[in-house]
Amino acid sequence: MKAPFLISLAALLAPPLLASEPVMFCERPLVAQLVAENTWIVEGVKEELSTSNCGHIGNQAFIATSNGVILIDSGSSPHFGEALKTLIAQHTSHPVRWVLNTHHHPDHFFGNTAFDKAQHLTLATTRDLMTRDTDALIDNVERLTGRSLERSSVALPEVIEAGDITLGSYPLTLYAMSGHSGGDLVIMDHTTGVLFMGDMGFYQRAAATAHTPGLQQWQEELHDLRALNATIAVPGHGPSAPSATIIDQTIDYLEWLDQRLSDVASEGLGANHALAVELPDTFSTIALAEYEFTRSVMQLYPRYEARLLWGAPQ
Ligand SMILES: [Zn+2]
Repeated sequence: MKAPFLISLAALLAPPLLASEPVMFCERPLVAQLVAENTWIVEGVKEELSTSNCGHIGNQAFIATSNGVILIDSGSSPHFGEALKTLIAQHTSHPVRWVLNTHHHPDHFFGNTAFDKAQHLTLATTRDLMTRDTDALIDNVERLTGRSLERSSVALPEVIEAGDITLGSYPLTLYAMSGHSGGDLVIMDHTTGVLFMGDMGFYQRAAATAHTPGLQQWQEELHDLRALNATIAVPGHGPSAPSATIIDQTIDYLEWLDQRLSDVASEGLGANHALAVELPDTFSTIALAEYEFTRSVMQLYPRYEARLLWGAPQ
């Protein structure tokens, strides 16, 4: 039997319950990792949407400012958004006042409703794509994760222009791009040197290309982002890392994919031939490389054939 004073000493040494109790989502602890001063990333698992990850595949990031928290992307469901809100409250006492959505894919904005007191903001192009695709994307998320979403709870953000903005008193620079999805918001924080790339950047997780307007455009925009010389980047999927490291890996993969599709099309061969290749060793550490490569060939190869036959744009 323990002496009473030992028990009370143990109680005294215990850290505050609120801070120590992990926030659980889908039977895993949800973790916020500090990447710069007052800046955290919540990294999704490097998988496709599934019942086993409950949709937590995309990254979120948040910046604690003196006027409130700026959240960048909100996850794939209101249920996840609630868990994220609890996690954020463990790191700052300020409420989330702004949610910036980087693009219209469901793993990045379906959690918005958990932040109903915040202002939700995105580019006009992204909002148009959300308007067009939201119903189909809800169906897709429900089918793949086996969890139902309340359809009416997915509200669309307000429009914000690219350029220098101030949220509260916190300055950010917004870039309007389109290489990944047709409407991609990239956010530069000059205070900390962090570049929030959304799915313009993938790191250690292969790029998804279903909605790209063209692989060459995506690469050109990545070269523009590289010239910003950010210190750290937060990709849409995969861990944060030095900005150049993430941008270079994304460019290398897209360049190889583009070349592969062009080469096979110029030989007049079919999509099956495009698939019949070993992925280079440099991509062996990248999660879902085979899976995304197969999807990219199916989605993009007809464009390469058409361009060769008819001179159609990519
Ligand atoms: Zn994503």
